[in-house]
Formats: sequence, structure tokens, C-alpha cells
Amino acid sequence: MFQLSYGLYILLAKEGNKLNGCIVNTVVQQTDEPKQISVTVNKNNYTEEMIARTGRLNVSVLDETAGFGTIQQFGFQSGRKVDKFQQETEYDMAENGLPYIIKGCNAYLSAKVMDSIDLGTHTMFLAHVTDGAILSENPSMTYAFYHAHVKPQPPKKAGKGKQWVCKICGYIYDEEKESIPFRELPDDWVCPLCKHGKQDFEEK
Ligand code: FE
Repeated sequence: MFQLSYGLYILLAKEGNKLNGCIVNTVVQQTDEPKQISVTVNKNNYTEEMIARTGRLNVSVLDETAGFGTIQQFGFQSGRKVDKFQQETEYDMAENGLPYIIKGCNAYLSAKVMDSIDLGTHTMFLAHVTDGAILSENPSMTYAFYHAHVKPQPPKKAGKGKQWVCKICGYIYDEEKESIPFRELPDDWVCPLCKHGKQDFEEK
């Protein structure tokens, strides 16, 4: 599965006055005539709930100029707790009334949900594309590009304590800097930045 390639996208929703979005790597074109896509998103994401209730979504295509800040803003915090659109977000509203992101994105699609499939941890939405636009010719960001060029690279290990690095966001757990140091990460360990579990950490 690690050899599969992915893009990176901001999945956007609007419910009432609430705007929200999250990062996904699972937007796939299914057919061109009619234009249909699938989007798979974790049920823990508030965006998933909003799309399930409203039946509408936008997809902003991240490009290679997007910084780690954009990934953090939409990916590493929950729309249940913060308003992701009050944090210097450059966005505009599409014809369907949902937001799309301008900065760091080269295109957007608007889509109407036709069907959804319960995949256990995730929901797959099958959606009909109703609108969209190209915003720039910057190359689209792939998941591989994110790992190689956007995610902070861990600095060289200095002390003797153990360190574990999050493979998703680059967060470093440094035993020597913690008030309650672990010799091993506990099984229920969760990355404080991106919320991924112990399985996504590796020891330096
Ligand atoms: Fe992380």
C-alpha cells in the first residue's frame, strides 16, 4: 500500500454559517462523462459530518507552493474546536455557496453527493462535479512531495535520550525534554500535532 501514490486536497463544507475543511489524500476521478469523483474521509472529522448532512462539498487542490502552515491549519486541528476560517485564510465562495481556498491551491471542484458508502472508520462519498475552476498552473502537491519538501525534517539527534518522530507531521517526542519521560511510547500514544497514533512514530 505504501507504493500507491496520492494527491493532497482540502475538503470543504458549509452548514448554516459554519465553514470548515480538512486535509484528505483520497480524491479520485471516477468518470469524465458525467464528471464524478469519490472522496473518502475519516468519520472523526467534523467535515465528514457536515458533508453527510448537507450533501455538498468542495475540493481545493493543494499545489507545491502550499506551506506546512496550511497543512497544520486544516489538517492538525478540529473544526469542532476552532474556526479554521478565522486564521488568515485566503478563500472565496464558489457558485454552490461553499468556500474554496485560494492560497496554495491551483484549482477547486464543487460537487453534489450522489451516494455514500460506509467503510467503517471512513465514509466514501460519490459525488457529481457541478462546477470548478483552475486558479494557477503550479504543479499539484502529491503526498510524496509533502513528505520530501513540506513536512519539517527532524534535526540531527543531540542528546542521549530516546526520540520518536511522527512520520506524518514530523513532530518529535524527545524523552529528555519531557516532564514525564517514556522509555517506550505507550500503546495509546497520540501525536499532539496531527493526532496519528503510535504506529505512525519511528524511533530516531
Ligand atoms: Fe504527527
